[in-house]
Amino acid sequence: MKQGRRSFIKTAGTFGLALPLAGTSFFKRQADQPLGIAVIGLGSYAKNQIGVALENSPEWKLVGIVTGTASKIPEWKKRFPSIKDENVFNYENFDNIVNAKDIDVVYICLPNGLHPEFTIRAAKAGKHVICEKPMANTVEEAEQMLNACNKAGVKLAIGYRCHFEPFNQEVMRYGKEKTFGKINFMQTNFGFKIGDPTQWRLKKKMAGGGPLMDVGIYCVQAARYTLGMEPISVTAQFGPVTDPTRFAEVEESVSWQLTFPEGITVNGFSSYKTNVETMFASCDKGNFEMSPAWSYGPLKGKTPNGEMKLPIVHHQTFQMNGMAPYFRSKDPLPDHFSGVEGLKDMKILMAIYKAAKTGKSVKL
Ligand code: NAD
Repeated sequence: MKQGRRSFIKTAGTFGLALPLAGTSFFKRQADQPLGIAVIGLGSYAKNQIGVALENSPEWKLVGIVTGTASKIPEWKKRFPSIKDENVFNYENFDNIVNAKDIDVVYICLPNGLHPEFTIRAAKAGKHVICEKPMANTVEEAEQMLNACNKAGVKLAIGYRCHFEPFNQEVMRYGKEKTFGKINFMQTNFGFKIGDPTQWRLKKKMAGGGPLMDVGIYCVQAARYTLGMEPISVTAQFGPVTDPTRFAEVEESVSWQLTFPEGITVNGFSSYKTNVETMFASCDKGNFEMSPAWSYGPLKGKTPNGEMKLPIVHHQTFQMNGMAPYFRSKDPLPDHFSGVEGLKDMKILMAIYKAAKTGKSVKL
């Protein structure tokens, strides 16, 4: 079956209807052929998770790489003989990807501060984009990314792997079906002890912020997808700075309190100083919880009915398999893992920072 020639992107109302992009190789991809993908940024996540997914997913074929480090090229080409010489780009000549008809989608796995530039350049080259979380450093950048993809008629997904993962899908179901009654309160915590003090995660320009941007986003996501609601206001507080050299540019830790409709409160905590990864929901008919809740676990959960017994999967492979049909389809991506979702999170993350800085409640 041939793909339709036209693809419309319907995202948020304000972003409108995208124009079909003439001549994009994507629209000619056969349903029985894997989608061609190029990975931008061959760091730890690309190597250890996205690479594994691409080795295991029949839906995708890694045909291109974009790297600023030439020494990584032989290792990647050895691991993926499907990478073609002409599809090996650096950050300067990346725009030539426009000529790579076998690349349908680019996966951006660069530091957060580079997500907007490379998403916009990929869109201009007529490539669909999967961008790692967080989508950007600011709300304005996230809007620019959505607008650029819309204008070019390409799709923009965010690497929200938990939407494809069985434990997290199960808590979404608990929230939706009120399996244990109404959820009244949630506690969401994600932190780890950060290593190398010179890494980009500690630089404001590259990271946008500290643990909130990196892992706190999972807490915000979990609150939204478990409750199936949007928060209406937030208060927040930065934690103490115990290491002023390491945490000169970004927060060491932050706590926040999101108010949702129906009087529901969700507390959150994120830190680069301590290892924690839990979500807890207090409901009318008992509690459910997960710990670890979002990382490579293996995830574990408990409900009033006992231990959650669900398959332990490779998250990134599930994400890639789960996203593939949406990239083949002429329909827009569902909002829950698209740039629309990324933008919603960006607004909440920025509101948390504003609330922590001002000491005042911020309306959402
Ligand atoms: P990393 O530091 O291991 O890799 C970053 C890559 O970007 C490296 O190859 C580096 O060479 C390259 N790079 C290009 N320009 C750079 C610059 N100016 N400064 C620093 N590096 C530069 O980081 P990572 O852990 O792979 O994270 C990459 C992205 O993936 C981030 O957006 C991160 O939030 C996201 N991530 C997502 C998950 C997830 O579970 N979905 C997990 C880890 C990381």
